[in-house]
Amino acid sequence: MRSAPQPGTYNDMNMPTEQAAIMAEAQSQATQASYDKSDLTLRDRLIEAGILIDTGEDGLYGRSAIFEDIVERLNQAITLLGADQHAEVLRFPPAMRRRDFEDSEYLKSFPNLAGTIHSFAGNDRGHHRLLEALDKIVHIGEGEERSDEWMDQQKPTRLVLTPAACYPIYPLVAKRGNLAKDGATFDAFSYCFRHEPSIDPGRMQMFRMREYIRVGSPEQVMAFRQKWIERGSLLVRLLQLPFEIDLANDPFFGRGGKIVADSQRAQQLKFELLVPVATPDRPTACLSFNYHMEHFGELWNIRQADDSVAHTACVGFGMERTTLALFRHHGLDVKAWPAPVRELLWGNADPIIADGLANMGEEA
Ligand code: ATP
Ligand code: ZN
Repeated sequence: MRSAPQPGTYNDMNMPTEQAAIMAEAQSQATQASYDKSDLTLRDRLIEAGILIDTGEDGLYGRSAIFEDIVERLNQAITLLGADQHAEVLRFPPAMRRRDFEDSEYLKSFPNLAGTIHSFAGNDRGHHRLLEALDKIVHIGEGEERSDEWMDQQKPTRLVLTPAACYPIYPLVAKRGNLAKDGATFDAFSYCFRHEPSIDPGRMQMFRMREYIRVGSPEQVMAFRQKWIERGSLLVRLLQLPFEIDLANDPFFGRGGKIVADSQRAQQLKFELLVPVATPDRPTACLSFNYHMEHFGELWNIRQADDSVAHTACVGFGMERTTLALFRHHGLDVKAWPAPVRELLWGNADPIIADGLANMGEEA
């Protein structure tokens, strides 16, 4: 079993991959039992305090002013942390072209998580049928089975919901032609959708991800990922949250998915920064650091200056998860949070982050 997380430990960074995989497996089995009990409390407390608003659907919440304020302040701190990256800021609505999504191979790996957008595409007769079908269900009480017959009239649109903030970036870079010699860096922020309803408040169906994305040579993107493992750790340390960095894998679907996940681990392509949030014995990934090798480069035909296929990497900051971690560790009353954390979020963050970077041996 993994030991309790300490501030700033890098547990599995140098651990043989197989051992790390076995530990993760054992850990996930061992902690399943405690999941349901420990989880409810934080969610219930947040809802009771009006910080999260229950919609009646697991994983879909409203956010209060204070929750949103924290997300915004964290976002600003991440901007300061990445100021020297001169990343191109790109913002997209939380949907992408279905065509790009189809080409992305997301459905090969995570068909169960994807969210498609449908809309009524019928004629008057279809509209009548829709209204008739609706009539049958509108007065049915909570908890009773509702027919979804009205959805027969819905047809797929040309849009799907964005699964990760970096997804709209790759086809765009490809379209621009060969990269400059030093590659490219992007800054993205988006609501994302994943169909994974859960009572764990850290596992939402719609949540925000801030990302920096690096496109270039293997050396450039690997250096970027290492830099961001360190900078992400700095941010979380400044937020006074206990954490560890661990080797990870994505939840690839199906029987074949296990092989892909094992290979992802063996090649050390994904690391996560984990903080105990709602499930203390099974810390939650608040940040992830991903190296995709030439996967997206090949898929989209992204070329380096010398015409070789580009490599990509991204760092993803889970805005809701990090906010929840702050509530979990510092309490629901933000006025009572530790002074340095308050100063970072609501005071003058500039010198704090500059100092932090300088102490890591980096100039701000
Ligand atoms: P997990 O392993 O817990 O499913 P992940 O590490 O696979 O998450 P990524 O695909 O790397 O997630 O997404 C980047 C970041 O987005 C994560 O580090 C996390 O902070 C956040 N995130 C991912 N899924 C969710 C979710 N369902 N609810 C809230 N935040 C999420
Ligand atoms: Zn990404």
